[in-house]
Amino acid sequence: MRLRYRVIISYADIVKREEMMLQRGMNFRAKPNYSIILMSVRKGAPYRDCWHEDSELLEYEGHDEPKRGDLDPKKVDQPIRYPGGKPTENGKFYDAVMSYKEGKTKPEIVQVYEKIYQGIWSDRGRYELTDGKIVFDGQRNVFRFFLRPTKTPYAKEPFLRETRIIPTHVKVAVWKRDQGKCVKCGSTKNLHFDHDIPFSKGGSSITAENVRLLCAKHNLSKSNKIMSLGPWISGLASIICSKTG
Ligand SMILES: [Zn+2]
Repeated sequence: MRLRYRVIISYADIVKREEMMLQRGMNFRAKPNYSIILMSVRKGAPYRDCWHEDSELLEYEGHDEPKRGDLDPKKVDQPIRYPGGKPTENGKFYDAVMSYKEGKTKPEIVQVYEKIYQGIWSDRGRYELTDGKIVFDGQRNVFRFFLRPTKTPYAKEPFLRETRIIPTHVKVAVWKRDQGKCVKCGSTKNLHFDHDIPFSKGGSSITAENVRLLCAKHNLSKSNKIMSLGPWISGLASIICSKTG
């Protein structure tokens, strides 16, 4: 397998990049060509989002009624429409799923940002919204949406591929150890988690020791170096590595 990177980004940089404040988690067609969602699988996260590591699917929960008065948003159905009949964000995403499943439209493109730590987000790239359903969770009806990665998650950043393999607790440990800076130049911009051991050498046992923070520049120079070797040399190198490893 090839080296992959996870892109991390501050909330301020997300705002700058998307040119808008993201006040809520679901933002249907916030941009002319795509929607934006914020999600988290942290302990204590408000919604039950999860990554299906095997299929790379993101399962995303719909959102609750806003809190008001005595109403406990966790005790009532997640709304699909407002009282006036207009769709809520749940309704808009759900309508997009139905339209896609009926063959009327292409899947909605969704930019996903995952909160991994206070003030630290991960750019998970672009996904396609391909399925959704309303399910009874034992107490009430909630939305479950299913998104799959697009073929070109980073159209503007061809070298940057993200991994879905570095666990959150490792990222948090690495971030703290490297103090949120590129280990080569100290830059705090466009940082990536760089996994230094090829998966063929047992990369599945990822610990903070084999992950480090690199800025985009140093990440790119590394990628270019790998690419300039040519596929046959990298192939040879991986054979040698796997024999000695
Ligand atoms: Zn750097």
